[in-house]
Formats: sequence, structure tokens, C-alpha cells
Amino acid sequence: MKKTRLVILKRLGDTLSMKLKFLGVRGSRPTHKRNLLGYGGNSTSLEFCLEGENFYLFLDGGSGLAWRGDQIAKKDHGKKFHFLVTHTHWDHILGYPFFAPIYDERNTLIFYASKTTRSSFTDLFFGLQRMSNLPVPISHLKAKLNFETIVPDSTFLIEDKVTVSTMQLNHQGVTLGYRIEHGNDSVCIITDNAPIENGNFLGENMFTDESLSFIEKQELFEAKLVKFLTGAHTVVFDTHFTEDNLKPDWGHSTPHRALDFCSKAGVKRLILFHHAPEENDSAVDDKVQSIFTKACHLGIEVVAASENEEWELCA
Ligand SMILES: [Zn+2]
Ligand SMILES: [Zn+2]
Repeated sequence: MKKTRLVILKRLGDTLSMKLKFLGVRGSRPTHKRNLLGYGGNSTSLEFCLEGENFYLFLDGGSGLAWRGDQIAKKDHGKKFHFLVTHTHWDHILGYPFFAPIYDERNTLIFYASKTTRSSFTDLFFGLQRMSNLPVPISHLKAKLNFETIVPDSTFLIEDKVTVSTMQLNHQGVTLGYRIEHGNDSVCIITDNAPIENGNFLGENMFTDESLSFIEKQELFEAKLVKFLTGAHTVVFDTHFTEDNLKPDWGHSTPHRALDFCSKAGVKRLILFHHAPEENDSAVDDKVQSIFTKACHLGIEVVAASENEEWELCA
């Protein structure tokens, strides 16, 4: 009896599959040169393709979101689009005004975003649409728009199907890392996150206990990030820099540091992400190579994110 139940549960989990699709893989800004188009030039945007579900789920709206929006608008109307927002730096938001489904009154868009002490996501979102920034007036945004404020260390459900958890990353403002689970499939997205050593605390209000030393705060943060990643099949991690050109106060990480977290968390696959705009294809290849042998020894598959590529996330 027990065995039958297990088989049924497994089959149910199997039907809830999720794939990860990269719409844009660059950090800082979109970029275009022939020698970097193997990996792609659009800035950060990802889609979670949920088999059998009647809604869309994205993370961030960098320039990569625009081409996907054009595809969807040609064939799909009256849909719900859920957006997980990591933060509001330009590379993560500039595709929103060019996302065609936002101009269709039959659609609904729901944004999940944190709030900084300086501004709300809603203010910034409508700021993108100001006449001095864009020739399309706000009145043309015909889709229904909902804005949900979320906080670090929270867990919530989307459409009762997808479990989403958050953690604040070491990056300017309040930047969220996400863990997304659907059926048996799981993935963590750490788009922008700097090494926290030597007092390099970049996020707003990351530590409320000021009695802690630098090293205690570092240990606390790193242990928390390892726990956040633990059990995820795939981790997409910020590797904007290498160990040679790392500028910690710019808010980004390296392949070696990403691999270290994934190793401690027992992750199966690491996808290098947030490629610097000046990195050509061979420079991105070199980043994979720089940790390839170590990753093989650890039993971790390592690849670099490439625009329009899809990944299965099965356990
Ligand atoms: Zn970024
Ligand atoms: Zn950023």
C-alpha cells in the first residue's frame, strides 16, 4: 500500500516539471559585439517554464525580456504573468516597458519585489514609463498590474503550485536571492552577490545585531547562504568577476566563490551567470575552465549561462 502511494506521489511530481530558460545573461548593461554573441548580449531575465500550468513565471526584466514578450504576444492572450524581482538596477529592469503583453488589457501582471529605504518598486516601475524616459504614456499600459511587497527570509506560494523563498544578498539596496520549487524540481537564483569578507557589507540593514564582529557577520551570512542553496538541484550564481579582476565593492562574485558555496550546499549543477558586458565568448569559456577540474572532483556540473538555452531541473 505504502509503495503504491509512493509511486503515485512520484508520478504527480513528475508531471510538475519546471525548466529554466535564459532570456538575458549579461550584468550591468546589454552589450553587442560579434565575439560575444555565442553567450548573448541581453541583460538579466529568466523564465521558469512550468509544464502543464496556465501562467507564466519570470525573474527580472532586463533587456532579454523584450524578445520573449514579442513571442508570447503573437500567440497568447488573457494570461497571468508573475515576476520575481531581485532588485531595481538598470540591467534588471530596462526590458519591462518593452514587454508586449503589458499593453494587452486581457493580461494580468503580478510583481513580487522588496522595498528599500529610498523607494518602492512601484515608484520605480512607473518612473520607467515617464514621458521624459519613454514616448509611450502610462495610460497605454492596459494590462492589470498588481504589486506585492515581499521581504527577505520569506516563503510564499504562486498559484498554489510554485514555492518561492527569499534571502537578502550582499549587494547594494535590498537585493533578493530566490529559491524556486515546483514538484520535484528546484533552482536557486543568486544574480548579484559580492564576497562579504573584510567588512564588505553592501546591503541595507543586513545585520541588526551591531555587537557582532566583522568575522561573525561574515560567518553568519555565509552559513545562511549555504543553507539557502542546500538541496537545490541547480544554482545560478553571479560570476561577473574573476579572482584577478574582482572589485568586491561593486557587488559581484567569481566562479571560485560560487563553486565553494555550491560544494558546501551539495548542489548538482552550477550555472555561471551575470557575465560582464566586456567579456567575449572565450573569456566566459575561460571562467568555466578555471573551475572545471575542481568541479569535476566535487561531482558538480559547471556550465555558463547562454541566452535562449533551456535547462531541466530534475532531482
Ligand atoms: Zn546586476
Ligand atoms: Zn545590481
